[in-house]
Amino acid sequence: MRSSAATGLLAIVVVATSAIIAAAPQQLSEQVRSAYVSVDAPVVILTNARVIDGTGGPVREGQTIVIKDGLIAAVGAATTVTPPEGARVIDLTGKTVLPGLVMVHEHLYYPVGPGVYGQLGESFTRLYLAGGVTTMRTGGNVNGFMDLNLKRAIDRGEKPGPAIDATAPYLNGPNTFIQMRTLKDADDARKQVAYWADEGFTSFKAYMQITRAELGAAIEEAHKRGLKITGHLCSVTYAEAADLGIDNLEHGFLAATDFVPTKAADTCPGQGAGQQTIAALDENGEPFRALVKKLIDRRIALTSTLTVFETFTPGRPLPPGLDVLLPELREQFLKTFERVKANTNSNYAKLFPKALMLERAFVKAGGLLIAGTDPTGSGGVIPGFSNQRQIELLVEAGFTPAEAIQIGTLNGAKYLGRDTRIGSIAAGKQADLIVIAGNPAADIADIHKVEIVFKQGIGFDPAKLIASVTGRVGLW
Ligand SMILES: [Zn+2]
Repeated sequence: MRSSAATGLLAIVVVATSAIIAAAPQQLSEQVRSAYVSVDAPVVILTNARVIDGTGGPVREGQTIVIKDGLIAAVGAATTVTPPEGARVIDLTGKTVLPGLVMVHEHLYYPVGPGVYGQLGESFTRLYLAGGVTTMRTGGNVNGFMDLNLKRAIDRGEKPGPAIDATAPYLNGPNTFIQMRTLKDADDARKQVAYWADEGFTSFKAYMQITRAELGAAIEEAHKRGLKITGHLCSVTYAEAADLGIDNLEHGFLAATDFVPTKAADTCPGQGAGQQTIAALDENGEPFRALVKKLIDRRIALTSTLTVFETFTPGRPLPPGLDVLLPELREQFLKTFERVKANTNSNYAKLFPKALMLERAFVKAGGLLIAGTDPTGSGGVIPGFSNQRQIELLVEAGFTPAEAIQIGTLNGAKYLGRDTRIGSIAAGKQADLIVIAGNPAADIADIHKVEIVFKQGIGFDPAKLIASVTGRVGLW
């Protein structure tokens, strides 16, 4: 048994090595390497690891993972491996390896004042990586070029951070955001998509006041270029967006206005009005089941962003990671937290548990649920820390730890069309891995104990990444 497992492992090493020619290992500047990297060797061998592989399958104990040239060269139950020269062997007894998180509703901005969103790409990219996020999509930007410039700097190894699927500035109708443009008409929507796509953006986000005609035009232009478009909707219902061919809907069902009886076409009745109907929605009733069926038939992914809604809900614990904030911003959030706590009549008291239930129902019916955190709201969603919290909340919704991790890894990779390369732990895939000092399969709270984050085979030290921004998050 033992010897055959070991033979199998070695065979995989040989196969993977021949496939490595096509891979591009992560290049890193000396500055990034010396500041944040804890493990960097030609071959890294992780032994005695518990593996949760991202597919939702059973947890495997006593695993060995061989990392070479930025890839997972082998993974298996070998108990003995002869390490090649120059290899670094790390004994992970009692620890767990997960795929790097693939999260799809992230932002590089944060609410710093009345209607003002600070552009925090510099600190946020470090926090995301520290939290175990190795690939992320930004879900709309209010800066213009920063998401794309940061993505490129990270790809070149000049800055630490996850691989970024950069989303262009929001596509929206008339709105009150001072950092957001207003579309004129469908032709304008088409032009906007074309412009940002030409600049190199790879994703689009429709927002709450867009019209059906504008959304339809934007979808057409994005799809023509092989790009995807998501939406945090209100003026357009989920069913209408599905008919127009949208790829993804944000915030679970909490942005759906499909059930508002007085809703006028192309008009947002208010997010609160929609959420009143969602809080009262019967998850076994025909209207909800019909909507779920439509989304699944059209292969539309749904993004869970429970973390941001948790901060609006009375009776929930303080969110993790607040200590990294600039003290003034931390104080600002803590005041809001006390207000939320006192407001026990809030619709969120009913809505939040319903959100969990509806997302679970969507998956049970066969839908693709993906995950993100949305670091907006009132400022309690801290990148990296919140990505781990999001997985915990999925477990609270009734998913097993392995299923919740799958939603935050392989499902995201599938949506991005990168699942042959990232999102799970398998030989030949990119070595994007998180080492956890504990067992999240037994206690999902252990997911906060991230010890090493491997991105393309290079191990980053989360403590160093976090220390580099602590007390400054809010400035840059
Ligand atoms: Zn968002």
